[in-house]
Parts: sequence; C-alpha cells; structure tokens
Amino acid sequence: MPAWDDPDRWHALREPSGCPICRDGPTDILVELDATWVTAGAEAPLPGYACVISKRHAVEPYHLPDRGLAFWADAMRAAEALDAHLAPAKMNYEIHGNTMPHLHLHLFPRHPGDPFAGRPIGAGEVHAVRSAAELDGMRAAIAGSTDAPVPPMAAVGAVVRRGDEVLLARHRHHADKRYVLIAGYVQPGESFEEAAQREVAEETGYEVAVERLLGSYPWRTLDLPVVFVACEARVIGGSLRLDGELEDARWFHLDALPEWPPEFPVARIFATLRGEGRTDVA
Ligand SMILES: [Zn+2]
Repeated sequence: MPAWDDPDRWHALREPSGCPICRDGPTDILVELDATWVTAGAEAPLPGYACVISKRHAVEPYHLPDRGLAFWADAMRAAEALDAHLAPAKMNYEIHGNTMPHLHLHLFPRHPGDPFAGRPIGAGEVHAVRSAAELDGMRAAIAGSTDAPVPPMAAVGAVVRRGDEVLLARHRHHADKRYVLIAGYVQPGESFEEAAQREVAEETGYEVAVERLLGSYPWRTLDLPVVFVACEARVIGGSLRLDGELEDARWFHLDALPEWPPEFPVARIFATLRGEGRTDVA
C-alpha cells in the first residue's frame, strides 16, 4: 500500500526531518560510494539484488542539486560491477519510492527461469537468501570497480574591483548571511568571462568588463564537484539595482573581507586577493 494513503505520514516522509533513512541511516550497507550507499541484506527477491540509496535526501532525482548526476554515476557503477560479477541475462532497474520516498534505485540482475519470468518484479518477495560469502563477493565487485568520474560543474566567481575594494553581496534565502562574491553556474556555450558579466548584470545591475582570470578553485559540496573560476572585473556602466535574490550588496576593503572557512572557494579567492594586495609583505 503506498504511504501516500495517509497524507500526514506521506508529508512527513517527504521531508528529511521525518525520513527514517535520514534519521537512522540505511540498514545492510554493502558498500559506501561517493553519493550513495549500496545495500544488500541476506534475504532478497533475487540472488544478486542490491539497492542504491542517495546519501542526500531527495524525493525525485531532479530535486538533487546536480539533478541526479552523481547518484546515477554511482548506480551505474554498481550495476556494471554486479553485471560483471554475476553475468545476468539482463539487469533490471526500478525507482518507485511510494513506500519510502527517499531516493533509491533497485537493481535486479535477471537470470533465465528466475521467479519473476513473465511478470512484474515484487521487490518485497523473498526468493533468495544470500550467504555472507556471496554478499562479500558482491561487495568486493562493487568496491573494486572503477569509479566513473562525475564531470564537475563550472561556476564563476566575479571579483568586481574598485581600487582596493571588492563588491560583495548577501543572499536573501541563504541561511549563511555572510557577504560573498557574486557567483553562479556557467551556462552552456558561455565563457567564464561572459558568465561573470551576466551574473553581475542580473544580480546587481552593474555592467562590468572582465580584466583577467584570477585562478581556478575546485570544490566539492557533499556529492557535487564544482570548479570555480574567479574573474576580476571592473564596473563600466549600469547602477546598483539588486534582483530579488540579494538583500544587500556593498563594497568591502581588501583588509576587511568577511571570514569564510578555508574550504570554501570564496575564502581561497580572498586569500589570493589579500596576497596580491599586500605590498608590505615580501
Ligand atoms: Zn531521507
């Protein structure tokens, strides 16, 4: 019976605060991958059955920040490894989430004559009991498989300069209220310079000219790889007109930039600026 038959319970399950996987973690973890856990208990519908569960709470794959790219990369790694290990006639894949909406994908390696021939797979039916050795074999196959790289997203940080000052902004909807560089993802077909100009124009109303690339700053936000490229720019037109996302934007002197934890690209970009701006240090 789908969990949505009870609307209150369904509403709770869809949120991380009411989600048993987020609260207790998954059971029967076989292997931990970058964005997922692969789980397999002793009892299963088929001998090679495994389940790939997103570490990050999402109801639909496209709710993830990368629209499920890293989740899918892990799922394919597990599927390919189980295919090589168990040589099924066909791998089957199912995403339902009607009982447990936290994103997970079932992998069913199918063999001729298996109990589901000619009918839908019943994920809750038990037709196989795996030994510890069999589960170890599955674990080793997935853990030893090649980690298919997830391509990083390209983002730009606009370092808009006015002498010894830098333009920073505070976001209306971010929990973190520290001032940060104007930044955003590069769109298909755009250069980093064009992305910087567009982001600054959209968010602040300023027209800027990019003078140079300051550097590149790789980052990983949980499961999502990102490379930030910092573009130094100056205002050549327009006037300050904040879009709805920003609640404030102002100029900060290089000696008074806000503190960010060192793993954030903005912290490393600030360090680059401070290093270059300080002529009194050899
Ligand atoms: Zn969850």
